Amino acid sequence: STPVATFCALLRAARMGMLIKGGNVLESLGEIRIAAFDKTGTITRGEFSISAFSVLGDKVELSQLLYWVSSIESKSNHPMAAALVEYSQSKCIQPKPENVTEFRIYHGEGIYGAIDGKEIYIGNERVLARSSCHHQTDDGLSNKGVSTTTGHVICDGDLVGVFSLSDDCRTGAAEAIRQLRSMGIKSVLLTGDSAAAAKHAQEQLGGVLEELHAGLLPEDKVRLVRGLKARAGPTLMVGDGMNDAPALAAADVGVSMGLSGSAAAIETSHAALMSSDVLRVPRAVRLGRRARRTVA
Ligand code: ADP
Ligand code: MG
Repeated sequence: STPVATFCALLRAARMGMLIKGGNVLESLGEIRIAAFDKTGTITRGEFSISAFSVLGDKVELSQLLYWVSSIESKSNHPMAAALVEYSQSKCIQPKPENVTEFRIYHGEGIYGAIDGKEIYIGNERVLARSSCHHQTDDGLSNKGVSTTTGHVICDGDLVGVFSLSDDCRTGAAEAIRQLRSMGIKSVLLTGDSAAAAKHAQEQLGGVLEELHAGLLPEDKVRLVRGLKARAGPTLMVGDGMNDAPALAAADVGVSMGLSGSAAAIETSHAALMSSDVLRVPRAVRLGRRARRTVA
């Protein structure tokens, strides 16, 4: 494309709220064959709400547990953390992050914190294994079909709490994926969240996704993006989290979810949405296709 035509197309993209980092990215957008979407914060709003929180056994009381959980989660910027802190506050429990003496993040799993001499893990099934917890009691929550994601709280090796949370899909997500499909571009879901949560999102979207891949670590997302490139051709990846950054970089075009996204995602992406409107993705592909046609 001529420099002027490219410049005009980039300007048009910017006007519709998408920052495309150069003419080569615009051209790649026009060649996309398959799109991979992160779930939390990309397809969904990333605003969790707690639908149930239960104490298991008689080792701790609910108020004590909520104080530990909210204090440790105060140190995390995961969307689930905000929901847990808010939930605790709604039960009149104030988090005290200053009492947390140790804190670690396990990407794709959850978090670890030490507080009041207790060692606490919070997260998905993977964290159970890491904490060498003997998961003997079935909480019953994960099988009710009401929960989209189940979280676990392990204190000194014992499973002492379970909670379920849900997160709604963004308006426009289903429409964006339908538009891509009408353009011959299939969409797949890549998530660190559970298979149940992935299925729930698919149901909310009316089954528009071609494939669901759940329980992924950041490196699994990279491996899957590489696999899509080999199998289907030029691949687009849309994500927002710090854990999406490597997969965004591995894609032919990595798109970060604007200002709600992590700094790492915005930096490694080839294009950034200035707001969380996923409908801008098919729009950008159309712009890329038009730019390519201008060349030919
Ligand atoms: P996603 O791809 O869905 O953004 P992440 O890799 O951020 O996933 O997280 C994967 C899973 O790890 C989450 O679905 C959740 O179960 C667990 N997890 C991560 N961070 C936290 C946290 N701060 N508190 C509780 N659970 C967490
Ligand atoms: Mg995310």
